[in-house]
Amino acid sequence: FASTQQLDCVVIGGGPGGYVASIKAGQLGLKTACVEGRGALGGTCLNVGCIPSKALLNASHKYHDALHHMASYGVIVGDVKIDWPAMQKQKDVAVSGLTKGIEGLLKKNKVEYVKGWGKVTGPNSVEVTLADGSSTTLQTKNILIATGSEVTPMPGITMDEEKFVSSTGALALKELPKSMIVIGGGYIGLEMGSVYARLGAKVTVVEFLDNIVPSMVVKGELVDGRPTLTVEPSKGGPATQLDADVVLVSIGRRPYVKGLGLEAAGVKLDARGRVQVDDHFRTNVPSIYAIGDVIPGPMLAHKAEEDGVAAVEIMAGRAGHVNYNTVPSICYTHPEVAQVGMTEDEAKKAGIAYKVGKFSMMANSRARAQDDSEGLVKMIADAKTDKLLGAHIMAPSAGEMIHEVVVALEYGASTEDIARTCHGHPTLSEAVKEAALATAFGKPIHM
Ligand code: FAD
Repeated sequence: FASTQQLDCVVIGGGPGGYVASIKAGQLGLKTACVEGRGALGGTCLNVGCIPSKALLNASHKYHDALHHMASYGVIVGDVKIDWPAMQKQKDVAVSGLTKGIEGLLKKNKVEYVKGWGKVTGPNSVEVTLADGSSTTLQTKNILIATGSEVTPMPGITMDEEKFVSSTGALALKELPKSMIVIGGGYIGLEMGSVYARLGAKVTVVEFLDNIVPSMVVKGELVDGRPTLTVEPSKGGPATQLDADVVLVSIGRRPYVKGLGLEAAGVKLDARGRVQVDDHFRTNVPSIYAIGDVIPGPMLAHKAEEDGVAAVEIMAGRAGHVNYNTVPSICYTHPEVAQVGMTEDEAKKAGIAYKVGKFSMMANSRARAQDDSEGLVKMIADAKTDKLLGAHIMAPSAGEMIHEVVVALEYGASTEDIARTCHGHPTLSEAVKEAALATAFGKPIHM
């Protein structure tokens, strides 16, 4: 129907921002089409991001556990081996199952999936170049740009996706490397580095900022067929050379608006190439909205999803809002690291008198029972009112544990509220309650 009817909403991009917005728009009764050019729904997240990386993190963790850890709790396994093609296959099956699932969800919610590349040709029209080269034009009341992001290239390095790889190449290496250099100590680099380290590679992380190892890559080239980097200490000094089987460049992602026709449509971008929007996800052209990685804010799938829902609620004349202060971020290493709300540094900068409470996973009975007790929970609260400001969790399953803190933060809870909430025993989440006790009363029970 899409090309023959006046639509309410055309979503350009079928990633977590775009497909979730499309489903919600369908549920709100908006006549909606979702335009996606890559041949599969789910965007970066499902195809080359969140999901395939978690499949490899899971498989590599199990291998590493079997090899180095299981004997400590009395499970003796035989000759543990890696079947790399099988690991890749499980990852691919998970991805394709989920992308097909989204197609089903679009259908169920009466959203038309238009397979092709969209271009904004006016405030109410989108031209789509279909897979066979033909094109069709969609007329619509509103346009939602959800075109996401792409890998930021690194000056001085040409990516061949075999020896010098982005996260996309790193998810599909033909052979397991014996050594890997990761440029960039962000969560993507650390997760992919973890995968290959667990599978036996010697992994080196090179980072410019001083949170990890501060050094700067000035050049990368193949020397006798081997990827080789020239690295300088960030604070100056002589350059050194590093080489490995594979170099992963993960220095960040940038908004993707190529071929979208935004300039001609008069849609403004900011200095970093992101689509400028107001609090209601509206661009400077009133019928055109934008969400997800292509606008400012944390470049995370769940943030894109929340944006998408709020934007179409607003289009449908309802209230929609996303609180960026309660968007959690999670790094899926082992232990996992999860964070939400303010950090201590942010509280200091904001001039807030704050207090901190901590609880070590070493004192958590479930973690000890599982022989997996590295990490801690740290909570930050207003010193006067006890209002929760933020939390960090480093623990196995921190990515699951953080959500009770997210809910508490969203509801404006105090740490005493969490401390007085009954938590099941024995669970890792009891460490959250104990950290809340430490923050509210200065003393946890079990430490
Ligand atoms: P995208 O997912 O990038 O989707 C945009 C879609 O638009 C793409 O499918 C693209 O093909 C399509 N498109 C672009 N232009 C057009 C056009 N003109 N016409 C038609 N279609 C178009 N986030 C997390 O929250 N958790 C994680 O664990 C996590 N892990 C990650 C791991 C890796 C390796 C990477 C690379 C990213 C990870 N992310 C993670 C980030 C997450 O993938 C993104 O934040 C999320 O995908 C952004 O969603 P989006 O809908 O804005 O854009």
